Amino acid sequence: MFRAVVLDVDSTLAAIEGIDWLAAQRDASIARQVAELTSEAMDGRVTLDVVYGRRLAIIRPTRAEISALAAQYIATAVPGARAALARWRAAGVRIDLVSGGLRDALLPLADWLGIAHSHVHAVDVEFDRDGVAARVRAPAPLASAGGKALVVKTLRLPSPALAAGDGATDAELAGIVQRFVAFTGVVRRPHVVALAAGEVTSFDALSTIVLGS
Ligand SMILES: [Mg+2]
Repeated sequence: MFRAVVLDVDSTLAAIEGIDWLAAQRDASIARQVAELTSEAMDGRVTLDVVYGRRLAIIRPTRAEISALAAQYIATAVPGARAALARWRAAGVRIDLVSGGLRDALLPLADWLGIAHSHVHAVDVEFDRDGVAARVRAPAPLASAGGKALVVKTLRLPSPALAAGDGATDAELAGIVQRFVAFTGVVRRPHVVALAAGEVTSFDALSTIVLGS
């Protein structure tokens, strides 16, 4: 049995990407600019932290939109996730969410999943006077490449710990925790699977690994 689990949120616990969802609330040109920035980051032409800030400055999400995104995270929660987390918690497993998403949008999902806010590690934003979140609040390690590894190292997790996620930033945890599992129930990225010690498509399958069979 694993004593701690680190989970990604976007395309792992929930079947959406928060930034894309916020961009989709804007017109097509905004969505296109955001998609271009994302692909520039994936190609390595710009760093993740620069892209993160630029995307936010283009989308300029309002407080109301971030609340709507929070509701979407719950509405699109991956089937079986909530029940699995309840079983892990009952078995004494520590659970942390480590996400590049917006913390304000993730807290209601954490409440719904029964995870304390102190176990939610994400990106804080600054709201301006009009209630627009146009800037990341520094320091924001989770808005940068290498941020997940940096944050997880500071958590002093009990061993053995397992991490699960769909993205390249999650795969950075492969050398930090005792086991990294690729979660491919929403999207399957072969380069992430290649770095993982296992692949699961459901939280029931993940539970079998976490709790031991
Ligand atoms: Mg993800």
